[in-house]
Amino acid sequence: MDFGAVTDVAYEVEPLGEKNGDCACCGKVTRAIWGIIHAEGAETVASYFVNWTVGADLADHPANMDLIIGAWGEGTGAPDRVAVSLLYSVVETGPAVMVIDAGGRNIAKNPLVGAALGRDEVVGTPVAALAFGLFDAVFLQDARFKP
Ligand SMILES: [Zn+2]
Repeated sequence: MDFGAVTDVAYEVEPLGEKNGDCACCGKVTRAIWGIIHAEGAETVASYFVNWTVGADLADHPANMDLIIGAWGEGTGAPDRVAVSLLYSVVETGPAVMVIDAGGRNIAKNPLVGAALGRDEVVGTPVAALAFGLFDAVFLQDARFKP
């Protein structure tokens, strides 16, 4: 797959569903939101799933963003898409987004996903640049994202 071609476009984020749950460690409310991302005025490039614990400190309750990136629509299938997982946390230097292993996330079992990429398969590649661009688009455009 050629991910290089779509890293320099503007994105349009389309929020879809959301759902609340309970944090397994502390019982606080967790929130999951999801939606899709289009290249501006054009095709879908990814779907996203974000979850975090409401009111918790990001330093010990980082937010997760799981992305399914690739081709969508007619004539495409799971082999045309990969899962990439990001962690949004606060470290000594401030807020930080990092790539984590998607294989350990529920997204890896999603039937829309062909391959769940490991951290080593993403860091330093065009997929990483793409994923960080998608994170920024969701962060800026989906008003529900308030970890
Ligand atoms: Zn907790």
